[in-house]
Amino acid sequence: MEFRDLGKQYHYNKTNIDAGIREVITGRQFIQGKQVRELEAVLSEYVGVKHCISCANGTDALQLVLMAWGIGKGDAVFVPDFTFFSTGEVVSAVGAVPVFVDVDGDTFNISCDSLENMIIRTLKKGKEKPRVIIAVNLFGQPADYRNLRRIADQYGLLILEDSAQGFGGRAGEKKAGAFGDASATSFFPAKPLGCYGDGGAVFTDNDDWAGIIESLRAHGKGASKYNHIRIGMNSRLDTIQAAVLLAKFPVFLKEELGRSAQIADLYTNKLMDVVKTPVIKDNVFSSWAQYTIQLPDSTTRDKLKEYLNTKEIPTAVYYPAPMHTQKAFGSYGGSEEDYRVTDRLCETVLSLPFHPYMDDSQIVQITQEIKAFLKKES
Ligand SMILES: *Cc1c(COP(=O)(O)O)cnc(C)c1O
Repeated sequence: MEFRDLGKQYHYNKTNIDAGIREVITGRQFIQGKQVRELEAVLSEYVGVKHCISCANGTDALQLVLMAWGIGKGDAVFVPDFTFFSTGEVVSAVGAVPVFVDVDGDTFNISCDSLENMIIRTLKKGKEKPRVIIAVNLFGQPADYRNLRRIADQYGLLILEDSAQGFGGRAGEKKAGAFGDASATSFFPAKPLGCYGDGGAVFTDNDDWAGIIESLRAHGKGASKYNHIRIGMNSRLDTIQAAVLLAKFPVFLKEELGRSAQIADLYTNKLMDVVKTPVIKDNVFSSWAQYTIQLPDSTTRDKLKEYLNTKEIPTAVYYPAPMHTQKAFGSYGGSEEDYRVTDRLCETVLSLPFHPYMDDSQIVQITQEIKAFLKKES
């Protein structure tokens, strides 16, 4: 069994993916070929925002937005403590200070109470100026944007939506990628919509920011190619990757998202009486980047992981360490009380095999093994 079976996905969609890749090789427009613009048009229409600017990966997508907003020295950016490293990394990369915020124990997403506390504390300290909230749609579920927007408005902050794991999710009719003032997504192979290498994109309705980001991703170019008006980076989506995504996208919409929801429901039905299963808020649709359960303590979690491993069921711990303890951020001054939920999650979470090409029989087998283990332990 595989944790995320990309081979099976390729097998079912081989004809279209192969044809798309072949067309790029025949056309030889490997950099910024027509497929890149076509993908950007398709995705911006789907998300429902004016601009989609593709780039080299999800980390660059986040950083490009911060650069376009002029975030840097003296600025504070609020980042959930429970996320992938990139979310905090980009803040330090542009010279600003990440202020880590605890998360909600049900949804794994940024806690609005903690956020408000941290904003007030940062204002009182008076050292850095609060500028941006980066909200992550962790494991596929959109964050609580209604409350986040209220807080952002109250304190005059911008919202950067990190939808690297959330592409395909919704809250009501609104799609992931449309909640932030700008949003970033990743096409890393294992993300909900993945390509066959690195890839990413920024979404925004703002014409000025879109223009700046287009310039930044191409060495800060001006109106013509060898006229540079700002320091940027080299961050383009390869045409081949755009072709892979164009081939996968219709299947992602028509089949994969719905099947993922079915699989998640099946897992939850079978496990809700024995472990803490993921909580999806009312009227919210997750794209299920991960299916993550919580065990009572770290010993049980580690033993279950080992037990499943002996049964050839691969699992993963997303994430084993909070952001505020990462060495890269230096001696980050936060007290343990500020991160109670994240600290607990890092010790107790376990992500189970998950992809839209799983059979029901595999879920039955996995959940039976989990139940057998827990019975043996009790
Ligand atoms: C994967 C991921 C990123 C970074 O995406 P890359 O394409 O790997 O650079 C950023 N944020 C979160 C939450 C992610 O899961």
